Amino acid sequence: MGAVKYIFVTGGVTSSLGKGIISASLAKLLQARGYSVTIQKFDPYINVDPGTLNPYEHGECYVTNDGAETDLDLGHYERFLNIPTSQDNNVTTGRIYYNVIMKERRGDYLGKTVQVIPHITDEIKKNFYKLGESEDYDFIITEIGGCVGDIESLPFLEAVRQARIELGTSNFLNIHLTLIPFLQAAGELKTKPTQHSVKQLLENGIQPDILVCRSEQHLPQDIRKKLALFCNVQINSVIEALDAESIYDVPLLMRKEKLDERVLSKLKLPTKTQPDIDQWKEFLGRLKNPTNEVQIAVIGKYVELPDAYKSINESFVHGGAENECKVKVHHISSEIVSEDNVKEYLDEMDGILVAPGFGERGIDGKLAAVKYARENKIPFFGICLGMQCAVVEFARNVIGLNGAASSEIDPETKYPVIDLMEDQKDIENMGGTMRLGAYACKIKKGTKAFNIYHKANIEERHRHRFEFNNKYLEQFEKNGMIASGMNPDRNLVEIVELKDHPWFVGSQFHPELKSTVLKPHPLFTGFVKAAIEYKKNKNKE
Ligand code: GLN
Repeated sequence: MGAVKYIFVTGGVTSSLGKGIISASLAKLLQARGYSVTIQKFDPYINVDPGTLNPYEHGECYVTNDGAETDLDLGHYERFLNIPTSQDNNVTTGRIYYNVIMKERRGDYLGKTVQVIPHITDEIKKNFYKLGESEDYDFIITEIGGCVGDIESLPFLEAVRQARIELGTSNFLNIHLTLIPFLQAAGELKTKPTQHSVKQLLENGIQPDILVCRSEQHLPQDIRKKLALFCNVQINSVIEALDAESIYDVPLLMRKEKLDERVLSKLKLPTKTQPDIDQWKEFLGRLKNPTNEVQIAVIGKYVELPDAYKSINESFVHGGAENECKVKVHHISSEIVSEDNVKEYLDEMDGILVAPGFGERGIDGKLAAVKYARENKIPFFGICLGMQCAVVEFARNVIGLNGAASSEIDPETKYPVIDLMEDQKDIENMGGTMRLGAYACKIKKGTKAFNIYHKANIEERHRHRFEFNNKYLEQFEKNGMIASGMNPDRNLVEIVELKDHPWFVGSQFHPELKSTVLKPHPLFTGFVKAAIEYKKNKNKE
């Protein structure tokens, strides 16, 4: 196609307008026209990566194959595009400064004064262009986190301004996402906040090429005209983005508004062919016309912010659609569940998922949920900490290892059935002991896991420190909990399952990080299917 085309997506008026979804939707439409596209996110905060951010504050930390801890928007990119992202797809202010400071310490700047312009902006641009150098992509869409007008966004916007000059107007495009509020009292849609936000962008030297306007109501022609006039864009570059029933509707809404065509024509590319989005539409068809409904409990401690379990929620959307089943996810705080009240919370559920997490808070609630699912033969899925809870519960209540625990929760336990590996214990003093990113797993034939994946060799993504303690494996297997998936290189247990239960699976990895619209994760599809079965049998009784 020639030079890589760079599209920068900025946001104004407020945060949370959905830059990630708009970027992913545009990328989808371009991909559906045969282009290869990736999306990267530049975040203005000082953390070097979101790995250290509290999920309450920032939602889940998304982990890529190469083990990067990234912003949850990368999850949307992968779910929409069905191609993996990497560390290069997520860069923060913290990382930019970190790189520049390392270079300064090495003496790379040859005694010069190191400044925001040009050194920080050069480092930002270097990272803007990095993925483009691979020649794998026709389009690089860059989402700039935050809002125009934020102090911390300034160096990024300055770098975008410079990029426009360097790339030339036929390889550069700015899409500005903004909000057109409806004032109930005046009965009107208001354009002024957008005008101000574009003015702010112009102050930073960036003229938007396309405005994507979030709105609760259709934008009438006169509003579009006004926006075009005051914001200095062509009228057909004012794109309406109405609230959607599902994020997966947005590509079709953007198609209707011809966002992809506007992008192509501005970048002087042919617009004649149509995007091939049949498969996407089929998915939406299944999603919107369910023939079944199941109730799934997700037991975790970050339930106040649904974004904390974003990928799990979305995996249920994919796995549900695959089964033509509406999955009603009930987030239940593990802190309020106990052995005494567990029935109240879980009685109506067709499946129970115990969520990933760190630390001891809410552990007893999780263990009570596992026990309830195991004893009542309700489909159970434990992910990471959820799998570790399943192991602990089994050790205590089936094998009879009183006080068995994960050494994360009880470092003094007599039976550390989940523990740090010996080699980790030494590294621990130096920090950095998480198993992060994609690892191989070999599945044993004849197990539930094998029936679910239909193959022996898989790769899944990890983010944890503790592991199943192989010292106890024989005892577990004798009592009916088997290790059906193992990491072949280090002999680590990756999947456990119960022999004597219709669907009880725990995975040390995070399958939710690999579920996409076009490739729903088999473990989620299988779990939902088991929940449907369970519900059917329950109704028969
Ligand atoms: N806290 C557990 C560990 O570090 C599980 C982590 C998780 O659930 N992601 O091993």
